[in-house]
Amino acid sequence: MSQQKFSKARFEAALTRQWQYLGLNSASEMTHHQWWHAVSAALAELLAAQPIAKPGKQQRHVNYLSMEFLIGRLTGNNLINLGWYDEVNALLAQQGIALSDLLEEEVDPALGNGGLGRLAACYLDSMATVGQAAHGYGLNYQYGLFRQSFNDGQQHEAPDDWQRACYPWFRHNTALDVDVGIGGKVSKNNDGSLHWEPAFTLRGEAWDLPVIGYRNGVAQPLRLWQATHAHPFDLTLFNDGKFLQAEQQGIDAAKLTKVLYPNDNHQEGKRLRLMQQYFQCACSVADILRRHHQAGRPLAQLPDYEVIQLNDTHPTIAIPEMLRVLLDDHQLSWDEAWHITSNVFAYTNHTLMPEALERWDERLVRALLPRHFVIIKEINQRFKKQVEKQWPGDEKVWEKVAVLYDKQVRMANLCVVSGFAVNGVAALHSDLVVKDLFPEYYQLWPQKFHNVTNGITPRRWLKQCNPALATLIDDTLGNSDWVTQLDALKALEPYADDKAFRQRYRQIKHDNKQRLTDYILQVTGIEVNPEALFDVQIKRLHEYKRQHLGLLHILHCYRQLRDNPQLDKVPRVFLFGAKAAPGYYLAKNIIYAINKVAEVINNDPLIGDRLKVVFIPDYRITVAEMMIPAADLSEQISTAGYEASGTGNMKLALNGALTIGTLDGANVEIAEQVGEENIFIFGNTVDEVKALKANGYDPKKLRKKDKHLNELLKEMEKGRFSHGDKHAFDPLLESLTKNGDPWLVLADFADYIAAQERVEALWRDKEAWTRTAILNTARTGMFSSDRSIHDYQQRIWQSKR
Ligand SMILES: *Cc1c(COP(=O)(O)O)cnc(C)c1O
Repeated sequence: MSQQKFSKARFEAALTRQWQYLGLNSASEMTHHQWWHAVSAALAELLAAQPIAKPGKQQRHVNYLSMEFLIGRLTGNNLINLGWYDEVNALLAQQGIALSDLLEEEVDPALGNGGLGRLAACYLDSMATVGQAAHGYGLNYQYGLFRQSFNDGQQHEAPDDWQRACYPWFRHNTALDVDVGIGGKVSKNNDGSLHWEPAFTLRGEAWDLPVIGYRNGVAQPLRLWQATHAHPFDLTLFNDGKFLQAEQQGIDAAKLTKVLYPNDNHQEGKRLRLMQQYFQCACSVADILRRHHQAGRPLAQLPDYEVIQLNDTHPTIAIPEMLRVLLDDHQLSWDEAWHITSNVFAYTNHTLMPEALERWDERLVRALLPRHFVIIKEINQRFKKQVEKQWPGDEKVWEKVAVLYDKQVRMANLCVVSGFAVNGVAALHSDLVVKDLFPEYYQLWPQKFHNVTNGITPRRWLKQCNPALATLIDDTLGNSDWVTQLDALKALEPYADDKAFRQRYRQIKHDNKQRLTDYILQVTGIEVNPEALFDVQIKRLHEYKRQHLGLLHILHCYRQLRDNPQLDKVPRVFLFGAKAAPGYYLAKNIIYAINKVAEVINNDPLIGDRLKVVFIPDYRITVAEMMIPAADLSEQISTAGYEASGTGNMKLALNGALTIGTLDGANVEIAEQVGEENIFIFGNTVDEVKALKANGYDPKKLRKKDKHLNELLKEMEKGRFSHGDKHAFDPLLESLTKNGDPWLVLADFADYIAAQERVEALWRDKEAWTRTAILNTARTGMFSSDRSIHDYQQRIWQSKR
């Protein structure tokens, strides 16, 4: 497969058609936004006309099912992957248009919450790039994740209407529409088999975005289903002259894909959410089977050609849906249907936290999906016989491994029982999946369990977001092979000892910090000093991620400077980016606390430029692309055992930020790669966390012993940062003390401060710091998502069954 050739004449003709559609007389009459749209639509048109390379025929086709795809802006990324960036840039420059300005017009398609959705997007990029044939399947939400602003420090949420109806990269083919039933009842046929009569039918429209491989001629779809009513008008009502009522049903159906649920690592259990899940799964399963039939292949061979990878349990209902179609529509026997299904599905686990493990109320499943409920019961009963053989009469084991229990359907259990593979997302996490979450399943089927450590695409997370560093690497290594072979960065290691190289590397970091400094001034009005250490914590706001531990360190630094104004302290800018789920009360209080503390510190004349705290609003892919290349220090400080992998940690290390972190998720592997001497590890380990909890950890005792920590907490309690309001941070402070500090923030505080002192010591030695940063870039090649995809291929997708 080779790169698509750029045709100047065809591009110009396509661009001309774009402004002609608008009824204009020339390109110069277009607004800036219309320019972005016209260029993108012209590119999409050219791409559609190119013969699409079909990657490897001998491998199973991957169907990556995910409720979220956090893809970020596409136009710039597609230009880079196509290899057309420079040509288009030059062409537009002739018209007086700056491509980089124009790309700023694109609104992020924020069809995901955080890491899980971003992982799905990185995997699509890598599958296209390594030539793994794949479809991404998700939902086309009208409103993505909310837009965040701050009102007197409090998070404010506004709807994120990203204008999907006029997004130029979409392609829609009505021939791919799928009808999906929901609700209703199950009845018996004459032959005793079952038959589902849904109460109503929805239509799923396939809206495709092209996923473009890196300069290899591959383009394959991310197919996002959008709900409409199967019959937009009720004709009886319409004929009776009741026009408005006639349209009502269409309006209701469209509600289904209106909004993305804004929870990260937390299940809400809402009816509409289950309907979204089923709608996505039913459309996707139908589409996979349609392609299989179209290729003229028998159903029994489905597992030879297709694999369905479930990104967490959100699309689990695809399993009983596949069985239903095989049993009811194709009249297969249970054994035939089960054999096919159980060799097609593979499941990726993303969390061990009970509040994030999906369980659905039996009544809800029965009401919406009566036929699927019967199938789930059948799976459960058959599995029970197997468990009974292995653990006769052991109700304790059954209580843990049952698919149906306590009137709840447990989606993770359904996945493990019905799938051929289960994987965790980092070495430590996969270990805990086997040892703590699924030990009984592991005893039954050890061969099902795997690790695939997460990864990130170096196209977006280095080449696109940090072009100056990419160019330095190209110049130094003499080629760009690293873009698809990230291990090649190893060859940079010797340059860590090269003074001139360090100077260039440091200058690039400085320029990136200057760019971020300008952005901070523009969006927050705060002036920061780009010479200061940029200390970055960017990720969803969650107790387990411990933004409040970062806050305690800020209070510590502030206190140090007030106690000793002459102290020679390393100047720092603390940078946060995080959205809290709108219903997550405590998380919102943490945001509020950080903002209020920031207000006091940033305006304290005693402090000046030595400390600044900035919460950058509306953290999203585009903001990440600016913050990551500008970071000096990467905060990865979750309670050990709770961050399954993290991918922000990888993006930051690759771009030369040093990590301060716990031995959690992929931090463990980052430490192995970069070397213990090039990372700041602190805090209780997984085993120590377990021991603390088992031995009745009491944060109040800890607070009594640590006078300094007590002072910091007292300042907040006294209203020092809230204009005297003593209750402003009650939720946060109560969780740290009265409510037992479940995430061990106080337990890790002292060691965290000690690690931060090591950070300061290294920062004072500029050359040593830069040397370490370079080694981080050079040694994080294994965190390319290309490597993750190779692991999936070898361990799961292409393994001999
Ligand atoms: C990478 C990324 C994440 C995941 O960050 P973690 O630190 O791994 O939780 C979340 N949001 C955005 C926008 C990202 O780019």
